[in-house]
Amino acid sequence: MTDKKPVQIRMSDYPATGNARDIWRVTHDSLRPVEDGEVLVRLDYISIDPGMRGWITNKRSYMPPVKPGGVMRAFGVGEIVESRATGLAVGDQVTGFTGVQTHGVFKQENLRKVGIPGVPPHTFLSGLGMTGYTGYFGMTDIGQPKEGETVVVSAASGAVGSIAAQIAKLAGARVVGIAGGPDKCSYLIDELGLDAAIDYKKGDISAALNANCPDGIDLYFDNVGGDILSAVLNQMNYQGRIVVCGGISQYGDFASAAGPANFMTVVTHSLSMRGFTMRDYMHRVPEALDWLVPAWKERRIKFREHIVEGIENFPNAFDMIFDGKNHGKLLLKLG
Ligand code: NDP
Repeated sequence: MTDKKPVQIRMSDYPATGNARDIWRVTHDSLRPVEDGEVLVRLDYISIDPGMRGWITNKRSYMPPVKPGGVMRAFGVGEIVESRATGLAVGDQVTGFTGVQTHGVFKQENLRKVGIPGVPPHTFLSGLGMTGYTGYFGMTDIGQPKEGETVVVSAASGAVGSIAAQIAKLAGARVVGIAGGPDKCSYLIDELGLDAAIDYKKGDISAALNANCPDGIDLYFDNVGGDILSAVLNQMNYQGRIVVCGGISQYGDFASAAGPANFMTVVTHSLSMRGFTMRDYMHRVPEALDWLVPAWKERRIKFREHIVEGIENFPNAFDMIFDGKNHGKLLLKLG
């Protein structure tokens, strides 16, 4: 058992507006006993994801919404402190849908053991975790960038976007990243080696795309939707491809996100537009790791993490990701 009092963050109800500030409750409920086939985990890090906004929206989606009063859903990583499961031992590092809590009792089949020598466990929540896999499969499997193509990536300095952009660059494409603010744009050029960066907060995104994509756009990896998607659509080349990974600019009203008004460009330019979630690729995670781990160790790809400390700061961290205040994969360090 644990000597510390467990702490949970619960969702009291679905947010009535785009602002989710008032829905979080801190509880200190005791843990239930560990049964056969289960383990008790002390969580060390929680992943903060834009998709959480969908999980607290009472609408049919790729997963059921969090139930009012329930522990907020999240990926986490931590160490097993008690085990009644044959395949997992005390001291093992595990990841899975742990929820935003300091401790939890889980069935062993709902956890995945992590542990690659020289790789800190929390890395399996960032570049070597779901966001890394999302960038990897979205770009390699769906986008399929080719040498000489012009590829545009939005939210390019973030967790998913930075991986996707670097993969396109490694494929020999000319890669233009879109991000908010001069710091993030400098990061795209100086650290990630992209060919151009567009600060969408500076104004005319269409003019900036026109100036930075003189040959048009062959492939767009969309993380944001909204006005940026509309502007990109107008400059897509004939038979261009759009990978719809996310639409964070529309998450304030997740239940009725607006689509682009110039949608008919998909017809007139014979575009393909394909969405996905990581649910489609869970069976192929080992393949992503086989590529990502050596690429990261050999510094062919880079990623950065933004760590907020303390479970009580979950509401702040949740807001940060929608305000663009995170610089890299946003993680909550517990304890
Ligand atoms: P990031 O690390 O990229 O953080 C989110 C970033 O989005 C912010 O830092 C901000 O960067 C940008 N942003 C926020 N609001 C807006 C806005 N209104 N307009 C434009 N940009 C905005 O998060 P992730 O990498 O985790 O997620 C990126 C996208 O990928 C999200 O849409 C997410 O839902 C999606 N996703 C999809 C998955 C899938 O399976 N399909 C899995 C995981 C994530 P900036 O300062 O540059 O504006």
